[in-house]
Amino acid sequence: MDFTFKTIHEFHNYFNSEKICYEFLEIQRWGNTPVCPHCGSIKTPYKVKARGKFQDIPSYRCSERGCDLPFTVRTGSIFEGSKVELKKWFHAAYELSISKKSISSIELGIRIGVSQKTAWFINHRLRAMLAETNPALLTGDVEIDETYVGGKEANKHKSKRQPKGTTGAKGKAPMVGLLQRNGNMVLRAIDADKANGENIKPIVRQFVSPDAVLHTDGFGAYKDLHKEFAGHNIVYHDKGEYVRGKAHTNTIEGFWSIMKRGIIGTFHTVSPQHLQRYCDEFAHRYNTRELKPVQRFAEGIKNSGNKRLTYKELTSKK
Ligand SMILES: [Zn+2]
Repeated sequence: MDFTFKTIHEFHNYFNSEKICYEFLEIQRWGNTPVCPHCGSIKTPYKVKARGKFQDIPSYRCSERGCDLPFTVRTGSIFEGSKVELKKWFHAAYELSISKKSISSIELGIRIGVSQKTAWFINHRLRAMLAETNPALLTGDVEIDETYVGGKEANKHKSKRQPKGTTGAKGKAPMVGLLQRNGNMVLRAIDADKANGENIKPIVRQFVSPDAVLHTDGFGAYKDLHKEFAGHNIVYHDKGEYVRGKAHTNTIEGFWSIMKRGIIGTFHTVSPQHLQRYCDEFAHRYNTRELKPVQRFAEGIKNSGNKRLTYKELTSKK
């Protein structure tokens, strides 16, 4: 779809009715043929005349024998079951795609005119939409590094503080980043206190092609990876070594500082339970860095199918 918006005002002028938003979503999700979200049939469905305030919304009933179920393009997408107008969802997704860092639910609620609780839910569902489910294997020069996020102990409520004497990364939320130079990246949150070879190596094997050359620091979790990949350069930070020719982890470390400033500046801190979704948001922003905001928005909307995340799932503790 060929369209550009220079301002958020132009964006609103374009998506000025629910009908236009539904039609845009249909093109992004289905192309020209509706797909039944219940049985996957592409047989032309029956058009259903909706009533009242929904009368402009394209509604269907599956024409497949034995299915016969009603649906709209929202069914089976992150927008399903939400009373919030699609216009507001689009506004939220656009805000997320033009922002350099991220948006807190308080800020988003004010901008799109919903409660903070609703905005929080929208934010997390949009992040689920941005998650890359099947990324291409990283290849070439791949930097791998791990880091931790978590607020300063002194700023936390007493019940959330670590016992006195706890040092270093303990209790903080770890994540590992794999970044192909001049390419894409993958970010994975790891359970607290489990950032070790046993948990990190399978992530490397899953997302990196064996013909890649790895670049890491001297952290023990990366030990022996040279046996499985084309090469493995290690820089020993603890010995004051940061760059040795092509061997360095400067790109991923630059990314960490942007992500941490984003998280701390916007949210102060994030709970480990939701860290993977912030990872998905920031990785998507990095991987679409060459795109214009409106293209990034359209790419995101394309992935809105089959990414339902219920309020219960969001709020349940692991
Ligand atoms: Zn069907």
